[in-house]
Amino acid sequence: MPKHTVTLIPGDGIGPEITAVMCRVVEAVGVDIAWELAWAGTEMLEQTGSPLPTETIESIRRTKVAIKGPITTPVGSGFRSVNVELRKQLDLFVNLRPVLSLPGTGARYDNVDIVIVRENTEDLYAGVEFEQGTSAALGLIDYCERAGAGHIRADSGLSIKPISISGSKRIVEWGFEYALANKRSKLTAIHKANIQKFSDGLFLKVAREVAQDFEGRIEFEDRIVDAACMGLVMRPHEFDVMVLPNLYGDIVSDLCAGMVGGLGLAPGANIGTEYAVFEPVHGSAPKYAGKDKANPTAELLTAVLMLRHLGEKDAADRIMTAITSVLAEGRFVTYDIKRSLTGSTAGSVGTVAFAEALINRL
Ligand code: NAD
Repeated sequence: MPKHTVTLIPGDGIGPEITAVMCRVVEAVGVDIAWELAWAGTEMLEQTGSPLPTETIESIRRTKVAIKGPITTPVGSGFRSVNVELRKQLDLFVNLRPVLSLPGTGARYDNVDIVIVRENTEDLYAGVEFEQGTSAALGLIDYCERAGAGHIRADSGLSIKPISISGSKRIVEWGFEYALANKRSKLTAIHKANIQKFSDGLFLKVAREVAQDFEGRIEFEDRIVDAACMGLVMRPHEFDVMVLPNLYGDIVSDLCAGMVGGLGLAPGANIGTEYAVFEPVHGSAPKYAGKDKANPTAELLTAVLMLRHLGEKDAADRIMTAITSVLAEGRFVTYDIKRSLTGSTAGSVGTVAFAEALINRL
């Protein structure tokens, strides 16, 4: 009987290549995992009529832990994001995204060590939307006018931004508990409460209330999202743990990935009270699909998070050390890292060659 069973969702675009490499690396450190293969994405939509088959959700409910590659969400089509759906159905309310500058990556800043805690189920990202011209959209526009909420042009499409007390409380509490457990010193709540008074304003009010319970143990501050972005670029070392509503979390995590060498290096985890689904920050990068070009490091750092979650700390540390050592040495790096380091992709290696260098090091 294997020690762990984990649902593996390869995804699409570069997903199958980077998840295959991830499985090889995890095997190389000798962790006994039975992978339960499950599918989601555009191909599934064509084959089964659903981009997220019930068998995939059932597998995660059974194994409790999944790791996935990215999944394409076509812009402006009727296809709802599989990722958003997964997070909703499994109530994965935390999106944890560590941002760490590693040597040899051409990161714009040294010694950045920020942890992004993004709310994962609410906000404009929740997909509560009304298409322009539909009777629902027109009815809502009419209701807003009658309720004194303001005039909305009749030819508008609408997206609703729900932010609740309970949703905000649980994510801010989780952020503080994470900060305590991981010996962090400060938590910054990010918002636009000066303008979005009833949504971000509520998030901030709750964050301030929760902060009182941790007074004297974790320092608390809040920043307006636009000023926080400037602060991140100018003085990233002022940030430690950041807690953000969903959409700001999405945007700020790509900004942070850019500070430390790009999306090819940014891991992530979706966590709830019962289930955890690990996935890198980046998307399916369709233009690199099947070309043996993608950097698998983000997926591998994501596996490091998963192994820690499974209690396999030594294996996680060994993979982390091997990644750090291969990157620092600089002989086997993918195109994105080479470009950050030299301005050109000449001399870079492919996905598989990088993985092989890593496995040799292990
Ligand atoms: P993307 O992250 O796929 O790619 C943006 C650019 O970043 C790429 O062109 C590439 O230059 C670089 N990049 C990303 N990952 C890389 C890697 N591992 N190695 C090297 N370079 C890498 O973002 P996008 O182009 O906006 O989105 C493509 C698709 O992915 C969209 O359909 C989007 O909805 C989806 N997406 C999925 C997820 C997810 O599954 N969790 C997350 C984000 C985007």
